[in-house]
Amino acid sequence: MELVGAHSAHTLSASEDVASCAPRARAKEPVTPYTFTPALKREMAPLYERVKHVVTPMEWVHYAPIVKAINELKVKRNAVILAHNYMTPEIFHCVGDFKGDSLQLAKEAARTEADVIVQAGVHFMAETSKLLSPDKTVLIPDPLAGCSLASSITPEDVRALRAAYPGVPIVTYVNTSAAVKAECDITCTSSNAVKIVESLGVPRVLLIPDQYLAKYVQTKTKVEIIAWKGACEVHERFTGEEMNAMREAEPGLKIIAHPECPPDVINASDFTGSTAAMIDWVKTKRPAKVVLVTECSMASNVAAEAPDVEFVRPCNLCPHMKRISLENIYEALLYNRYEVTVDPVVAEKARRAVERMVEASA
Ligand code: SF4
Repeated sequence: MELVGAHSAHTLSASEDVASCAPRARAKEPVTPYTFTPALKREMAPLYERVKHVVTPMEWVHYAPIVKAINELKVKRNAVILAHNYMTPEIFHCVGDFKGDSLQLAKEAARTEADVIVQAGVHFMAETSKLLSPDKTVLIPDPLAGCSLASSITPEDVRALRAAYPGVPIVTYVNTSAAVKAECDITCTSSNAVKIVESLGVPRVLLIPDQYLAKYVQTKTKVEIIAWKGACEVHERFTGEEMNAMREAEPGLKIIAHPECPPDVINASDFTGSTAAMIDWVKTKRPAKVVLVTECSMASNVAAEAPDVEFVRPCNLCPHMKRISLENIYEALLYNRYEVTVDPVVAEKARRAVERMVEASA
């Protein structure tokens, strides 16, 4: 596998740089019409059932009124919330209408009949929703919710790759801007990357921008992969040493890793797959003790539905995903902000790349 590219995995835009790491930090309290009364507690009890293993009664006092307000606003505005697996449990289980990984959410964005889509995820995901639902209003609760992978490569970089490798198709992971997608032939996600690379029927492809996903795919295919030097700032922090130490400390532990992790982590794991595949693995195998080597909110979301499984949690948070909160989701719906738009010329080209993926992975 060849590795190209000049950008550091940690190259973040100035706006991304200032992201907060605190999962439940709140800048200010939004004004909602409700407070936590005994009547509201009773009314919201079925929703609390979904998260009672991972949300404390004290936290629920704060969450319940705003969850109720959001769910009412969704009906009023004919809106849906697409919640990524890395959202915190009160968002994922209590206001999310469709939940999943990037591919699952992109498919929901394409088929929804709602007027408004609120993306509880990061900016490139909201752009993907807009590409697939150009006539809908797509809102992102915090426009600064970026991604270290998306900011590791620019459209100019892709044009330079195209010139350096004439005739070699360019597959981009969905974790890129619409402008980058527009320069590529087809997109992929971590759940379908091998299938997409092989669907092209060529001996060599460029797979950008995640060098670790590319390395993982290279172990699964005979197609020669040329990779870019981007990395996910959350997954690249895990190490094989850390995995071995956890295995020693926790006898019987199953290690399940995301393919954005470095190869030594993947080699030390019992299973590797996309977030959707990781969830499926836990729900099917029901291990006594497991560690999900990915963004740590996902373990809380799966734990809410699998109380019989013990989760070991090395807590690596994505500062960009953690910009999304119940408060800014509520304000997004209330004030119709922040609307995501994509230049029509860019959108047409980028949409083709995403639609090719959706067709190839149908
Ligand atoms: S977890 Fe990694 S790939 Fe996902 S949004 Fe955060 S920085 Fe990007």
